[in-house]
Amino acid sequence: MDKYDKIVELAKRRGFIWPAAELYGGVRGFIDFGPLGAALKRNIEEKWRRWFILRHQDFIVEIETPVVMPARVFEASGHLEHFTDFIVECTKCHRKFRADHLIVEQTEIRDVESLSIEELNSIIKEKNVKCPECSGELGLVQTFNLLFKTTIGPYSESIGYARPEAAQGMFLAFKRVYEVMRNKLPLGIAQLGRVLRNEISPRQGPIRLREFTIMELELFFDPEDPKCPLFDDFRDEPLNLLPVKDITSGLKEPRQLTAGEAVEQGLILNEWIAYFMVLGRDFAKSLGIPEDCQMFIEKLPQERAHYSAQTYDQVVKLERWGWVEIAGYSHRTDYDLKRHMEYSGVDLRVFKPFSQPIITEKFVVKPNMRVIGKTLRGDAKKIISVLQSMSSDEIISELNGRGFIEILGFKLNRDCFIITKEKFEVKGRRFIPQVIEPSFGADRIVYATLEYAFSEKNGRIVLRLPKDVAPIQVCVFPLVNKDGLPELAFQVYERLRNSGLRVEYDDSGSIGRRYVRADEIGVPIAVTVDYQSLNDNTVTLRDRDTWRQVRVGIKDIDVLIKSYIEGRVKFHELGPLV
Ligand code: AMP
Repeated sequence: MDKYDKIVELAKRRGFIWPAAELYGGVRGFIDFGPLGAALKRNIEEKWRRWFILRHQDFIVEIETPVVMPARVFEASGHLEHFTDFIVECTKCHRKFRADHLIVEQTEIRDVESLSIEELNSIIKEKNVKCPECSGELGLVQTFNLLFKTTIGPYSESIGYARPEAAQGMFLAFKRVYEVMRNKLPLGIAQLGRVLRNEISPRQGPIRLREFTIMELELFFDPEDPKCPLFDDFRDEPLNLLPVKDITSGLKEPRQLTAGEAVEQGLILNEWIAYFMVLGRDFAKSLGIPEDCQMFIEKLPQERAHYSAQTYDQVVKLERWGWVEIAGYSHRTDYDLKRHMEYSGVDLRVFKPFSQPIITEKFVVKPNMRVIGKTLRGDAKKIISVLQSMSSDEIISELNGRGFIEILGFKLNRDCFIITKEKFEVKGRRFIPQVIEPSFGADRIVYATLEYAFSEKNGRIVLRLPKDVAPIQVCVFPLVNKDGLPELAFQVYERLRNSGLRVEYDDSGSIGRRYVRADEIGVPIAVTVDYQSLNDNTVTLRDRDTWRQVRVGIKDIDVLIKSYIEGRVKFHELGPLV
């Protein structure tokens, strides 16, 4: 049993995660979060909100948009065309698989993301890759679109798709949010919600799902002002980076350099990307994933999504699966807004006034009616209407080039025009903002958090979950179930519960078994009410990680425990050791 199997066993037994639709044999790529799993996930999501949204609440806001959108949205976004994987079918048992995954599993080739259909086909042939289920011959590789398709309402022609990322809803809402936020850049729009991807043959439990939660942020900025004003404090932060430059020269190990150096050397295209990478590194660290078990790998140009000018994947080391992506950081340029502008016909550019209007001079060309009327007579009207559709610049460049303009067979020379120089006031600039996107997969992060928290001590499981995301923060136990201990313990429980802590009261079985249960589900602190409590109103607190105990008064127990959970005091500072 490797760590993954042990975690899956624990997750099912104690109510973190289990396969969805188990009654019907389950369906790959869908999972349920049980009471503890849902609470852990919610705590991680809340932490993400604090980490990425609330700390920037002056310019980053959260919205919520639908999961299903009309086909036109995904035509515009490019997903209908590009959101595909390579599929291959067994000619014998007709099961279908991801071609690149089979190659990784059955050959020594690892860099498969950028291979073309032809290359995949020839590798499958040359390396004799077979069906993993029945060893049958594989057919030819084809592309498969991962979008889940549906119909909207009772009209079969009204096709909709489930979103594969939360991003598009934020691009569609950009104009409104920009106005609501008083027309300022930089502006961040964040969204946390379910997405669906019809993955071909997901066989990695909670790592590869067909429905999962994404935590996504689109940071819109002015291309003429791409600097991140918060970056200065982050310049010296170290990052483990494996840029394309190193990958293409055969390196596999990341280099460590500061975020500032990475930007200066052009390895990270924009300060905002580097800023979010540092935040993301610390976010993962705060969930128990040490820095040396994380790195940022740049995607090769041919591996990048269709909208991206640069993407770094934040990967973490997992025991069974190796390096697994938990977040992606992309420079989405102005691709999405531009496409939605083209497809919807709505102007999504923003207007930025200059601090002072700029006065410019321009040549303005008008037809000289007197001359045109006299020489062209009856045709003058038609000619004038064609001229009106031309810009002054166009007319001047024709006149400068050929000396005349030819319209409907008539040659008009310079005398047919009145050219004057006029002053114009330009109040500002109109442009499409550029976008940086950090995008986190909540479910993978929940799994990674569980794996890094998982430990065994004296043959028992201790889930060392970070205190702030543990589904239950405190357990309260009466030592025995008699002599007034349960009543006092329940009062302590109520007091902790009313203070906003996540608490569980447990009086079943021996105290030793209750500690085991609490350790297994990662409860940082256990409070035990014993006989001494009846005399002096004190209880013991037991630390999950060291199993040490201190004695504290009931009077301010809620304040004490909170200060410990929030990391303001160490365990041994809570009271005298017993
Ligand atoms: P992407 O848009 O593909 O970069 O995905 C963003 C994040 O979603 C990734 O970094 C993963 O954490 C997560 N993710 C992507 N695909 C899946 C999947 N099939 N199942 C679970 N999480 C996923």
